[in-house]
Amino acid sequence: MLNRADIFEAIEAHLPRSEATGGHLAVMMLRVEGLREVSLRFGYAIGEAAHAHARERIRGALRPIDRVLSAGDDSFVVVLPGLHSHNHVLLAAMRLLQAFERPLPDLPYPFQGRPCMGVALSPDHGDTPDLLCRQAEMALAAAQARGESCVLHEPREAHDEIVYEELREAIEANRLSTYFQPVWDLQSGGIAGVESLARWATPRQGLVPPASFVGFAEKSDLIQALTRWSIGTTLRHAAMLRGAPGLTFAINFSPRVFARPGLVEQLMDLLEIWGLPPSVVVAEITETALVNDLDAIAQAMRRMRDRGARIAIDDFGTGYASIAYLRRFPASELKIDRSLVCDVAHDPRTAKLVQSIIQMAHHMDMATVAEGVEDRATQDLLMSMGCDYAQGYHLGRPEPADDFVARHAEGPKEI
Ligand code: C2E
Ligand code: CA
Ligand code: CA
Repeated sequence: MLNRADIFEAIEAHLPRSEATGGHLAVMMLRVEGLREVSLRFGYAIGEAAHAHARERIRGALRPIDRVLSAGDDSFVVVLPGLHSHNHVLLAAMRLLQAFERPLPDLPYPFQGRPCMGVALSPDHGDTPDLLCRQAEMALAAAQARGESCVLHEPREAHDEIVYEELREAIEANRLSTYFQPVWDLQSGGIAGVESLARWATPRQGLVPPASFVGFAEKSDLIQALTRWSIGTTLRHAAMLRGAPGLTFAINFSPRVFARPGLVEQLMDLLEIWGLPPSVVVAEITETALVNDLDAIAQAMRRMRDRGARIAIDDFGTGYASIAYLRRFPASELKIDRSLVCDVAHDPRTAKLVQSIIQMAHHMDMATVAEGVEDRATQDLLMSMGCDYAQGYHLGRPEPADDFVARHAEGPKEI
């Protein structure tokens, strides 16, 4: 179905040649997720009918001047000439998403399909059909990797290119390090578990904290490899700690990967390989993730919880999620953010707020973890407020996981 010559010709015909013709030309690669599976399940004839209906939907959402060309079983190239600004591309993308909000007609089962789009613009990103198509295709791959519906091509800076390659290589060669920070049970005074934190040692910069590279990985497709690495290395160390039963291992999940199909299975497979029960894992996901993509995240959480893993809402108190909002998420723990915890001992209003967060979490059958406990006074206050767990420099800094394992393989210690 792919006819590259036709596609190139359609793009070529509309390329902005001069200031006079003006505006931008957008080349959009659009994949309708699920469309290919229609052929596989119901036969090619029905698959082709679905493809034609999808094309009709796309056509109907656009201006007469726009072109829609088939580019595969489930893909289309859309050429949008004469756009006055980048925002017009987003507008077109929004209309395309809306067009697929109803199921396609005349199919043996209701099929809706979800468009996923990658876009490159001329003249900003290039001025040949070949380059624009490749960039749009890469943007589409990025959109799919991130679970977003539309991604605009992002020209990579030379510096980013280097970091990307270095980080990719470091993940692949298993050269990131795993640090463990203890999580204390405030009421019993023992170590309840650890949070697994990544570090990247580079010859140029020394130990790079994750705040500098996790965000970078999230912007590219590296976040999936990082997540895989993170689960693998944490469970490997957890397996070495079988002599200290009852410890839990908290793993940070980027919101970008949390709702991806296959994540729960990947985690369960690795648990099985290391012979560990799912109950040793606490999957941490930040509060801000709950504001976007609500349903997908809630569903992934439920599946994870049904299989026996625990879920913690990280950085609670920094985003916009209210306690009432948490009703929708089957979390087992709430991690109160450092920015609140660091003030509890000197600011009575913050203390009241934290106290009520703890109470409400308990009413909703969630345990509370205070992050960033840096002194004894804060620890004592949180304990008196009924906070269940705590983590922070006062109680234990992150340390190489191997060191933690060496000390605890014989059994957990007390405060
Ligand atoms: P986070 O999940 O909120 O992790 C807690 C951060 O607080 C860690 O920073 C920890 O070192 C720091 N911390 C702990 N106690 C104290 C304290 O008492 N005072 C202060 N000032 N800081 C404290 P870190 O290790 O730099 O990690 C930063 C963030 O990077 C983490 O925030 C987490 O969101 C992310 N991250 C770390 N490792 C991974 C990973 O393997 N995968 C993913 N996706 N994200 C990760
Ligand atoms: Ca965390
Ligand atoms: Ca946190």
